[in-house]
Amino acid sequence: MTTPAAGKLAGKVALITGAGSGIGRAMALRFAAAGARVAAAGRTPASIEETVARIRAQTGQDALAVAADVAVPADVERMVRETVARFGRIDILCNNAGIGSSKDVVAVEPEEWDHVFAVNVRDVYLGCKYALPHMLAQGSGAIINTASVLGLVGAPERAAYCASKGAVVALTRQIAVEYAHRGIRCNCLCPTTVDTPWVSRLLADAPDPAARRRALEERQPMGRLATAEEVAAAAVYLASDEAAFVTGTALVIDGGMTAR
Ligand code: NAP
Repeated sequence: MTTPAAGKLAGKVALITGAGSGIGRAMALRFAAAGARVAAAGRTPASIEETVARIRAQTGQDALAVAADVAVPADVERMVRETVARFGRIDILCNNAGIGSSKDVVAVEPEEWDHVFAVNVRDVYLGCKYALPHMLAQGSGAIINTASVLGLVGAPERAAYCASKGAVVALTRQIAVEYAHRGIRCNCLCPTTVDTPWVSRLLADAPDPAARRRALEERQPMGRLATAEEVAAAAVYLASDEAAFVTGTALVIDGGMTAR
């Protein structure tokens, strides 16, 4: 068992969306290990309850599972309300839930485009809309949005996804500028391909999964995919007081992909 009371996030309360899988679960576990009390939000109750059980087993920390579909505005409002009701405050909001879309701009239909934006962008706006009043009343808060390198560079057959993550980067900067003088920091993460269940599904659908994986790995000069833990470690930094002067940044975690 770790000693969370002495961690970088001791005393802080964190709400994380998409906490039942991949990057969100890694964030939840790392944040708890760093001393935060965590509200793990997500669509599938069994997944977020599993995350909460792991937090309790690994750290002994109290944690809360909140079933919420971030595409539903009332769910996002309730998710924030339940977090504050349970823990009395909200210091860190990780807008992490997201979905992919593997179509070019001609093939993607308006319904899919709108749904991708509802889950990847509107949820960030809504999470901030409902959490910021609490953070402003406290005079402090850190918001971390999971964008993607595909919010910074283009990729084939990712029209709605690239556009949605670019919007997350832009909204991150807008919120950073708007609230910088009121104790709120807002940053986003821009990982390259991360080895999560998301990517396992992508590979399972490929005609030659091993070749597809190699192609994904070769995009990075480091020759591998990112791990969820590496992304979560960056989130702990951005959430902590060590990043006190860091706001509006799009932190690239890409093994050098966008450096060449
Ligand atoms: P993942 O393993 O598929 O996890 C995504 C999580 O988001 C799941 O827990 C999922 O819950 C949740 N979610 C999806 N739609 C939701 C909704 N409408 N309401 C609430 N929760 C919802 O994917 P991941 O790789 O960890 O991705 C997390 C974030 O990282 C996403 O924003 C993604 O765009 C971003 N990202 C991923 C990669 C990558 O290569 N993996 C790279 C760059 C950025 P359910 O399982 O219950 O649906």
